[in-house]
Amino acid sequence: MKTLAFTLTAAAALLGAAAAQAQVVNLYTARHYQTDEALYANFTKETGIKINRIEGKEDELLERIKNEGASSPADVFITVDASRLELADKAGVFQPVQSKALEARVPANLRTPNWLAFSTRARVIVYNTKAVNPEWVQTYEDLANPRLKSQICVRSGSHPYNLSLGAALLTHDGEAKTEAWAKGLVANFARAPKGGDTDQLRAVAAGECGVAIANSYYVARMMRSTKPEDVKDMAALTVVWPNQKSWGTHVNVSGAGVLKTAPNKANAVKFLEYLASDTAQIYFADGNNEWPVVKSAALKNPALEKLGPFKADELPVEKWAPNTAAAQKIFDRAGWR
Ligand code: FE
Repeated sequence: MKTLAFTLTAAAALLGAAAAQAQVVNLYTARHYQTDEALYANFTKETGIKINRIEGKEDELLERIKNEGASSPADVFITVDASRLELADKAGVFQPVQSKALEARVPANLRTPNWLAFSTRARVIVYNTKAVNPEWVQTYEDLANPRLKSQICVRSGSHPYNLSLGAALLTHDGEAKTEAWAKGLVANFARAPKGGDTDQLRAVAAGECGVAIANSYYVARMMRSTKPEDVKDMAALTVVWPNQKSWGTHVNVSGAGVLKTAPNKANAVKFLEYLASDTAQIYFADGNNEWPVVKSAALKNPALEKLGPFKADELPVEKWAPNTAAAQKIFDRAGWR
């Protein structure tokens, strides 16, 4: 009997060891770049923790997390845009993460108690020199000036990229000014908003409008493209870092948080810490032509190098992201559909 008991205990210990070895972390991610494969493989190599990944559209993944509730297998939610991360946070899906490594590496203005940024993208102004005077398009505020009547192309006012810009403007300029800005901008539209940021760049190159607002990685992607149509379009475009003499260019983020219901919380935190390592930062940011948040991560991206340095808005994301809902109301009142 004694032998059998011993054997059973030993077997249980062995099973326990096997379970401990089968370490996993479950990611729900709205990122789907080929370079991310190497990023994930390297994490498993370094830690032995296997990554299970569910990819989907940003809003669908959040819905899924909410619907799965307490039984969700998700440990980490990775998505783009602070306004989406804010939405997820408001829905109460994240839990606070305490990590000395993350605090040391991710700048304070790019994290909140419940989620943090791993890469940044700038919302830039792009214009056609044949259509507008460069001096007229140096700030976001400039774009509402009536001298730019029928010149502006921009995607929908309900898209998170514009809502985040609106939230930042609202935080800097206040509600009355931001509403006047949105109304002025809408009055300057060359056409009703349609398509994504790249469509706006193409419309400026084609002369359908004189100025567009777009995320920097769309510009960088076009700069790196060797397709003849992209090369031709890029030749017609000039990029502006907006608001260099005031509060700086609005930067948005790719970011992640650990879910409140995470079954593998310790592994989730390890994964976030890994994302903040120098090697992962380079993969993570460069996969989408973005800038790493960790200053020591060297960037080797010819398009971003060519775009050069700029003054980024350093307003903490924790301060402006919660203004997303208010920005949407302002845009609705201004008729920015
Ligand atoms: Fe995008």
